[in-house]
Amino acid sequence: MSAPATTRSRDPRFIVRARADDRCEVCGALGTDWSHRIAASRGGLLIPFNGLWLDRACHNWAHANPDLARAAGIHLPTGADPELEPVWLRPALAWPGWWFLTDWGGYELLRKERPAPVVPACA
Ligand SMILES: [Zn+2]
Repeated sequence: MSAPATTRSRDPRFIVRARADDRCEVCGALGTDWSHRIAASRGGLLIPFNGLWLDRACHNWAHANPDLARAAGIHLPTGADPELEPVWLRPALAWPGWWFLTDWGGYELLRKERPAPVVPACA
């Protein structure tokens, strides 16, 4: 028996996938992976502002390039507050830039100039 929709819709991974409209939030390709910004092993919670929806290539890139992933806000150091740390990404319905992630599965624009980081190329 499958889980009722109300249970599924409360799963942060489902919220983040819907937020991303199924696209990788870094490159725009079809997304496949939930990615913690602060790893679960370092206390990162399963909540929408601590997660990104990525494709496998960007997920692998983030793990292979920890300094670049951290500079882009894709990964965060232990103890950071992911709700207060912007991440450079491509929202499904807006422009690439620095965005805060909200607990309800939305985006809030960082209203300060900040250079774009190095991230994988657009799909
Ligand atoms: Zn990607």
